[in-house]
Amino acid sequence: MKITSPRRIVGSNAERTRLHNRQVVLGHVSEQQPVGRAELARISGLSTQAVSNIIAELVEDGFLAEAGRQVAGRGLPALQYRLNGHGAAALGIEVRPDAMFGALVDLEGETLFTTRIALTDSAPASVAAAAREIRAGALVARPMKNQRLLGAGVVMPGPFGNVGISGAGQSALQGWGETDATALFEEALETAVIVENDATAAAVAERVRGVASGLRTYCFIYFGAGLGLGMVADGEVQRGAFGNAGEIGHVVVTPGGRQCACGNRGCLETYASRIAARTELAAAGIELASASDIERLYHENNPALMAWLDAAAAPLSQAIGMIENLFDPETVILGGAMPNAVLDHLIGGLSLAGGSVAVRPGRKTPRVMRGACGRLTAALGGAALVIHDTITPRIAAKT
Ligand SMILES: [Zn+2]
Repeated sequence: MKITSPRRIVGSNAERTRLHNRQVVLGHVSEQQPVGRAELARISGLSTQAVSNIIAELVEDGFLAEAGRQVAGRGLPALQYRLNGHGAAALGIEVRPDAMFGALVDLEGETLFTTRIALTDSAPASVAAAAREIRAGALVARPMKNQRLLGAGVVMPGPFGNVGISGAGQSALQGWGETDATALFEEALETAVIVENDATAAAVAERVRGVASGLRTYCFIYFGAGLGLGMVADGEVQRGAFGNAGEIGHVVVTPGGRQCACGNRGCLETYASRIAARTELAAAGIELASASDIERLYHENNPALMAWLDAAAAPLSQAIGMIENLFDPETVILGGAMPNAVLDHLIGGLSLAGGSVAVRPGRKTPRVMRGACGRLTAALGGAALVIHDTITPRIAAKT
């Protein structure tokens, strides 16, 4: 599929400067709240008059609310401002080959609505129809009917564009070829859309609400249909030149090993992924319908599932060692469309290499952790990306 630039900036220079200054003020309020206009002017470098104008606009638009007065020195106590949590919300949607997940998250990160819609196929028309259904449900569920929809973060499995591993088997969405995903979703959802890969969105969700809160550099191994890697370095998402960084599923861990749909042999995805679990179980005559089937089989100690878990441990350990030495993360998080019990079992079964840059005295976080956001992690991440874009100034917008 094609992705039109998700970071496009439109409008005149004056308009871009205005939007940038709004983001600067929102960003400082979200970090310092409650905060007054003189303090905002001091930390932003904008004039008090400019800050006053922006605050008036943001209050009018429902982004900021007054938060009482604070006595500071002589004179009238200064009026304080905070984010108006319920004033605006973002939609997050995850598209998987067999289902779509939706979440509505407000400006302060509170989840207002979640849903799951089963897909009989993942063709663009079916996905667009389900997206419209998610939007309608979210709008009905809003606690306040005047709540502004900031936009939508739509999360899909990569790779994006025509590359050597495009359409690689069951983990890819079929029939998207030259579809302009951003345009399709903007029309279906009637709002601005950011399209992001699932692993990156999951990594962002863990930073906003999960186990990566407070971390600046970490990686997230995402179990979708296939396997993806989200990377955050010094607080910034790493996307690569074409949005395809982190295709860890197609890294070869066993030369000459199992045949992968991408054409390689021995890809990590053929050992440690839902596809691999499905293949192992199908060979034992068991059809997997959903993640809850995996959970049930796990609690039944199903021999085929246990055999898959055993076989996945070494390739996954090897990949984590590779990730550590390449990116030097504070931790590697495992999560996505796998039951917590199975993720915990996978983590417990790892034999991590002693020869790794991650082995050092005084570690504050474990080398590997399980994500806290569960099966909605990517959808929540989609919404978090929109909120992040709303309150974080983009460097490109400064000029
Ligand atoms: Zn492959």
